[in-house]
Amino acid sequence: MKLGKYSIGVGDRFTHQGRAQLRAIMKANETGLEINPVWNKSNREHIYVGTVPADTRKEADEAVKALNYTGPYFVDADHINLSSVSKYVDSSDFFTLDVASFIGKESSKEDVDAFVASCEKYVGELQIPGIEKPLHIIKELLNKIAGKFLAATQHASDIYEYLKKEKGEGNFITEVSMDEVESPQTPVEMLFILKMLADKGVPVQTIAPKFTGRFNKGVDYVGDLDQFAKEFEEDVLVLDFAVKEFGLPEELKLSVHSGSDKFSIYPIMAEVIAKYDKGLHLKTAGTTWLEEVIGLAVAGGEGLELAKKIYENSYNRQEELCAPYADVIDIDGSKLPSVEEVNSWSSDKYADTLRHIPEHPDYNSNFRQLIHVAYKVAAEMGNEYTDMLVKFDNVVGSCVEENIYDRHLKRLFSI
Ligand SMILES: [Zn+2]
Repeated sequence: MKLGKYSIGVGDRFTHQGRAQLRAIMKANETGLEINPVWNKSNREHIYVGTVPADTRKEADEAVKALNYTGPYFVDADHINLSSVSKYVDSSDFFTLDVASFIGKESSKEDVDAFVASCEKYVGELQIPGIEKPLHIIKELLNKIAGKFLAATQHASDIYEYLKKEKGEGNFITEVSMDEVESPQTPVEMLFILKMLADKGVPVQTIAPKFTGRFNKGVDYVGDLDQFAKEFEEDVLVLDFAVKEFGLPEELKLSVHSGSDKFSIYPIMAEVIAKYDKGLHLKTAGTTWLEEVIGLAVAGGEGLELAKKIYENSYNRQEELCAPYADVIDIDGSKLPSVEEVNSWSSDKYADTLRHIPEHPDYNSNFRQLIHVAYKVAAEMGNEYTDMLVKFDNVVGSCVEENIYDRHLKRLFSI
């Protein structure tokens, strides 16, 4: 099973927007692109919302059928590990093996020594085609990288072997993710991580490193754009080298876990993948939930009332809702509007405050980040929330579609 050159992960917390998301992708594909849709949902999201993996499969299958979509599509068990993978076996055909918590775990001296010995030929000045300066590889560096990543790549191999036994070789896509950590992996680390995966027989098709800069939830990238561009380009070149050198799948590509809406780096990624004719996988998730709230606000009446209620609950439960996301949000509490103020807002005022158009005078990134992490509030509302999604399906769906197409796909694929 092969993932296409271009693919986008569309997360959907409440599993109502599959058709709207697919409409956006099909619209982009009308321009001659072949973007594969992937419906991703993490174990954490399923637990918070109270859904099960089969719900995501059903959503994807129904959307595909309803829109007569005939291309490849996938259902991603996002951020799973050996203890959470089993319940995804039947419904997923894309697995994101999250090995972040194994980075830095000790490996045996024999394993480290064996890995370092296997890298003998790379010691010295290693020239990666396309990268200006050769990589300076010394044994100490190899020792350090092995100490840091051998256990993590072994964990990836353990999950992969389990899946191979359960699903059969070649019947699923394998992604390895290391994005949920503090410090970014350097291109040279990436090179040897890929060698470890190849040595262990993990046919990785997408790899999600932690990139430089901040990937806060729901808002744009914060960081040095030049540094990101350099790192992203070097990673692309390292992947190309690794495919040829280590015999990894030729479709291997980077997976960018965006945390939603990293608009300022989209054109950079677009330029690099076009320059080298490479593929890309981009994961979005929470951006669709935010469009649901925007859609309800736009719908007015009961929809707007519910959007206001969601804000009131979120505002009153800030501490609890923000705690699990403390590392990936930056909310200035003094810039959040009061509940009374929001309760007096019109549809437009609410939607413009939340919608991710930074140049709009009403846009408030603090408001947006708070709602982003507050989907638990809507989950607790149960049918009160989802009934409104059904009732205002047209307006909510068009917000979801417009967001994925206009703000994401157009920028990412230079449409
Ligand atoms: Zn991630």
